[in-house]
Amino acid sequence: MLKTCEIANRDPDSVNLLAVSKTMGVDAVATAIHAGQKHFGENYLQDARPKVSAFPEATWHFVGGIQSKKTRDIANAFGWVHSITTEKVAKRLSEQREPTLGRLNCLIQVNLSNEDQKSGVTQDEAIRLAGQIATLDQISVRGLMAIPAPTADPAAQAATFRLLRDLKDEIESRHGLPEFNQLSMGMTNDFVEAIKQGATWIRIGTAIFGPRNKP
Ligand SMILES: *Cc1c(COP(=O)(O)O)cnc(C)c1O
Repeated sequence: MLKTCEIANRDPDSVNLLAVSKTMGVDAVATAIHAGQKHFGENYLQDARPKVSAFPEATWHFVGGIQSKKTRDIANAFGWVHSITTEKVAKRLSEQREPTLGRLNCLIQVNLSNEDQKSGVTQDEAIRLAGQIATLDQISVRGLMAIPAPTADPAAQAATFRLLRDLKDEIESRHGLPEFNQLSMGMTNDFVEAIKQGATWIRIGTAIFGPRNKP
Protein backbone atom coordinates (compact mmCIF):
# COMPACT_ATOMS: atom_id res chain seq x y z
CA MET A 1 0.00 0.00 0.00
CA LEU A 2 2.85 2.42 0.83
CA LYS A 3 4.47 1.60 -2.48
CA THR A 4 1.22 2.20 -4.37
CA CYS A 5 0.82 5.57 -2.64
CA GLU A 6 4.32 6.50 -3.74
CA ILE A 7 3.66 5.49 -7.35
CA ALA A 8 0.28 7.23 -7.33
CA ASN A 9 1.73 10.34 -5.66
CA ARG A 10 -0.73 10.01 -2.78
CA ASP A 11 -0.02 10.94 0.83
CA PRO A 12 -0.24 7.59 2.71
CA ASP A 13 -2.15 9.39 5.49
CA SER A 14 -4.95 10.14 3.01
CA VAL A 15 -5.63 6.44 2.30
CA ASN A 16 -7.18 4.47 5.17
CA LEU A 17 -7.06 0.71 5.48
CA LEU A 18 -10.34 -0.90 6.45
CA ALA A 19 -9.72 -4.52 7.51
CA VAL A 20 -12.84 -6.46 6.48
CA SER A 21 -13.05 -9.09 9.22
CA LYS A 22 -16.40 -10.65 8.20
CA THR A 23 -16.58 -14.39 8.99
CA MET A 24 -13.34 -14.14 11.00
CA GLY A 25 -13.23 -14.84 14.72
CA VAL A 26 -12.35 -12.64 17.68
CA ASP A 27 -8.78 -14.02 17.64
CA ALA A 28 -8.10 -12.82 14.10
CA VAL A 29 -9.29 -9.34 15.02
CA ALA A 30 -7.14 -9.39 18.18
CA THR A 31 -4.06 -10.20 16.10
CA ALA A 32 -4.77 -7.33 13.71
CA ILE A 33 -5.36 -4.90 16.60
CA HIS A 34 -2.06 -5.89 18.18
CA ALA A 35 -0.41 -5.18 14.82
CA GLY A 36 -1.85 -1.65 14.98
CA GLN A 37 -5.02 -1.95 12.89
CA LYS A 38 -7.83 0.38 14.08
CA HIS A 39 -10.68 0.17 11.54
CA PHE A 40 -12.67 -3.01 10.87
CA GLY A 41 -15.47 -3.75 8.39
CA GLU A 42 -18.37 -6.17 8.85
CA ASN A 43 -21.34 -7.03 6.65
CA TYR A 44 -23.61 -9.08 8.95
CA LEU A 45 -24.72 -7.74 12.33
CA GLN A 46 -24.87 -11.18 13.92
CA ASP A 47 -21.35 -12.08 12.84
CA ALA A 48 -20.05 -8.67 13.95
CA ARG A 49 -21.56 -8.58 17.46
CA PRO A 50 -18.99 -10.63 19.46
CA LYS A 51 -16.12 -8.78 17.79
CA VAL A 52 -17.60 -5.32 18.36
CA SER A 53 -18.22 -6.17 22.04
CA ALA A 54 -14.70 -7.56 22.48
CA PHE A 55 -13.02 -4.52 20.91
CA PRO A 56 -15.03 -1.35 21.56
CA GLU A 57 -11.80 0.64 21.17
CA ALA A 58 -11.68 -0.19 17.44
CA THR A 59 -13.79 1.76 14.95
CA TRP A 60 -16.39 -0.48 13.31
CA HIS A 61 -17.67 0.05 9.78
CA PHE A 62 -20.83 -1.58 8.45
CA VAL A 63 -20.41 -2.51 4.77
CA GLY A 64 -23.34 -4.88 4.11
CA GLY A 65 -27.01 -4.71 3.19
CA ILE A 66 -29.20 -3.13 5.91
CA GLN A 67 -32.59 -4.45 6.99
CA SER A 68 -34.86 -1.90 8.66
CA LYS A 69 -35.23 -3.99 11.81
CA LYS A 70 -31.42 -3.94 12.33
CA THR A 71 -30.94 -0.20 12.11
CA ARG A 72 -30.99 0.49 15.87
CA ASP A 73 -28.08 -1.86 16.57
CA ILE A 74 -26.14 -0.72 13.52
CA ALA A 75 -26.66 2.95 14.42
CA ASN A 76 -25.17 2.45 17.87
CA ALA A 77 -22.46 -0.21 17.42
CA PHE A 78 -20.80 1.28 14.35
CA GLY A 79 -19.01 4.55 13.64
CA TRP A 80 -19.38 4.35 9.87
CA VAL A 81 -21.92 2.85 7.45
CA HIS A 82 -20.69 2.43 3.85
CA SER A 83 -23.86 0.92 2.42
CA ILE A 84 -26.71 3.46 2.50
CA THR A 85 -29.10 2.95 -0.42
CA THR A 86 -32.41 4.39 0.82
CA GLU A 87 -33.62 7.52 2.56
CA LYS A 88 -35.81 5.36 4.79
CA VAL A 89 -32.84 3.47 6.28
CA ALA A 90 -30.83 6.68 6.65
CA LYS A 91 -33.71 8.31 8.55
CA ARG A 92 -34.02 5.38 10.92
CA LEU A 93 -30.27 5.35 11.57
CA SER A 94 -30.38 9.06 12.34
CA GLU A 95 -33.39 8.79 14.64
CA GLN A 96 -32.02 5.76 16.51
CA ARG A 97 -28.42 6.93 16.96
CA GLU A 98 -27.68 7.92 20.56
CA PRO A 99 -26.83 11.63 20.44
CA THR A 100 -23.95 11.11 22.91
CA LEU A 101 -22.15 9.05 20.24
CA GLY A 102 -21.95 11.97 17.85
CA ARG A 103 -22.93 11.73 14.21
CA LEU A 104 -22.81 8.48 12.29
CA ASN A 105 -20.55 8.75 9.23
CA CYS A 106 -22.46 7.50 6.19
CA LEU A 107 -21.51 6.71 2.62
CA ILE A 108 -23.94 6.09 -0.23
CA GLN A 109 -23.41 2.82 -2.08
CA VAL A 110 -23.50 3.28 -5.85
CA ASN A 111 -24.02 0.51 -8.38
CA LEU A 112 -21.58 1.52 -11.11
CA SER A 113 -21.85 -1.63 -13.18
CA ASN A 114 -25.65 -1.33 -13.24
CA GLU A 115 -25.98 -5.02 -12.58
CA ASP A 116 -29.42 -5.91 -11.27
CA GLN A 117 -28.13 -8.31 -8.63
CA LYS A 118 -25.68 -5.86 -7.06
CA SER A 119 -26.99 -3.47 -4.49
CA GLY A 120 -26.49 0.24 -4.76
CA VAL A 121 -28.23 3.24 -6.28
CA THR A 122 -27.78 4.76 -9.73
CA GLN A 123 -25.67 7.87 -10.15
CA ASP A 124 -28.76 10.11 -10.43
CA GLU A 125 -30.27 8.55 -7.32
CA ALA A 126 -27.00 9.11 -5.43
CA ILE A 127 -27.14 12.84 -6.18
CA ARG A 128 -30.71 13.06 -4.88
CA LEU A 129 -30.12 10.81 -1.86
CA ALA A 130 -27.08 12.82 -0.75
CA GLY A 131 -29.22 15.97 -0.60
CA GLN A 132 -31.89 14.17 1.45
CA ILE A 133 -29.47 12.59 3.93
CA ALA A 134 -27.58 15.84 4.42
CA THR A 135 -30.58 17.23 6.32
CA LEU A 136 -30.63 14.44 8.95
CA ASP A 137 -29.54 15.38 12.50
CA GLN A 138 -27.43 12.41 13.59
CA ILE A 139 -25.82 11.60 10.25
CA SER A 140 -22.84 13.09 8.51
CA VAL A 141 -22.98 12.17 4.83
CA ARG A 142 -19.33 11.63 3.95
CA GLY A 143 -19.10 10.24 0.41
CA LEU A 144 -19.56 7.22 -1.83
CA MET A 145 -18.85 3.49 -1.83
CA ALA A 146 -18.89 0.98 -4.70
CA ILE A 147 -18.24 -2.70 -5.33
CA PRO A 148 -17.62 -2.82 -9.09
CA ALA A 149 -18.04 -6.02 -11.08
CA PRO A 150 -14.72 -7.90 -10.81
CA THR A 151 -12.33 -7.53 -13.71
CA ALA A 152 -8.61 -8.28 -14.00
CA ASP A 153 -8.09 -5.40 -16.45
CA PRO A 154 -6.48 -2.44 -14.63
CA ALA A 155 -7.71 0.04 -17.25
CA ALA A 156 -11.30 -1.09 -16.74
CA GLN A 157 -10.88 -0.94 -12.94
CA ALA A 158 -9.47 2.59 -13.23
CA ALA A 159 -12.30 3.78 -15.49
CA THR A 160 -14.93 2.59 -13.01
CA PHE A 161 -13.21 4.13 -9.99
CA ARG A 162 -12.81 7.40 -11.89
CA LEU A 163 -16.58 7.47 -12.42
CA LEU A 164 -17.11 7.21 -8.66
CA ARG A 165 -14.61 9.98 -7.99
CA ASP A 166 -16.23 12.30 -10.54
CA LEU A 167 -19.65 11.62 -9.03
CA LYS A 168 -18.32 12.37 -5.53
CA ASP A 169 -16.86 15.68 -6.78
CA GLU A 170 -20.15 16.58 -8.47
CA ILE A 171 -22.21 15.90 -5.34
CA GLU A 172 -19.73 17.72 -3.12
CA SER A 173 -20.00 20.89 -5.21
CA ARG A 174 -23.67 20.66 -6.23
CA HIS A 175 -24.94 20.28 -2.66
CA GLY A 176 -22.15 22.34 -1.08
CA LEU A 177 -21.13 19.57 1.31
CA PRO A 178 -17.51 20.10 2.44
CA GLU A 179 -17.48 16.83 4.40
CA PHE A 180 -18.52 14.81 1.36
CA ASN A 181 -14.92 13.89 0.66
CA GLN A 182 -14.63 10.12 1.20
CA LEU A 183 -14.32 7.39 -1.44
CA SER A 184 -14.63 3.79 -0.27
CA MET A 185 -13.35 1.74 -3.19
CA GLY A 186 -10.85 -1.04 -3.81
CA MET A 187 -10.67 -4.56 -2.39
CA THR A 188 -7.97 -7.26 -2.45
CA ASN A 189 -8.01 -7.59 -6.24
CA ASP A 190 -8.29 -3.96 -7.30
CA PHE A 191 -7.01 -1.70 -4.51
CA VAL A 192 -3.96 -0.52 -6.47
CA GLU A 193 -6.09 1.15 -9.15
CA ALA A 194 -8.49 2.42 -6.48
CA ILE A 195 -5.66 4.22 -4.67
CA LYS A 196 -4.45 5.72 -7.94
CA GLN A 197 -7.97 7.04 -8.58
CA GLY A 198 -8.43 8.66 -5.18
CA ALA A 199 -9.72 6.05 -2.70
CA THR A 200 -9.73 7.26 0.90
CA TRP A 201 -10.82 3.84 2.23
CA ILE A 202 -9.66 0.56 0.74
CA ARG A 203 -11.64 -2.40 2.11
CA ILE A 204 -9.37 -5.43 2.37
CA GLY A 205 -10.41 -8.87 3.59
CA THR A 206 -8.58 -11.75 1.90
CA ALA A 207 -5.18 -10.06 1.63
CA ILE A 208 -5.16 -9.47 5.41
CA PHE A 209 -6.95 -12.47 6.90
CA GLY A 210 -6.56 -15.10 4.18
CA PRO A 211 -9.44 -17.04 2.62
CA ARG A 212 -12.75 -16.55 4.41
CA ASN A 213 -14.57 -19.05 6.58
CA LYS A 214 -18.01 -19.94 5.26
CA PRO A 215 -20.58 -17.48 6.68
C1 LIG B 1 -15.96 -8.93 1.74
C2 LIG B 1 -15.92 -7.50 1.38
C3 LIG B 1 -14.70 -6.85 1.11
C4 LIG B 1 -13.35 -7.53 1.15
O1 LIG B 1 -13.14 -8.29 0.00
P1 LIG B 1 -11.69 -8.97 -0.31
O2 LIG B 1 -11.77 -9.24 -1.78
O3 LIG B 1 -11.62 -10.20 0.50
O4 LIG B 1 -10.64 -7.99 0.02
C5 LIG B 1 -14.75 -5.51 0.82
N1 LIG B 1 -15.91 -4.82 0.78
C6 LIG B 1 -17.09 -5.42 1.02
C7 LIG B 1 -18.34 -4.61 0.97
C8 LIG B 1 -17.14 -6.76 1.33
O5 LIG B 1 -18.33 -7.35 1.57
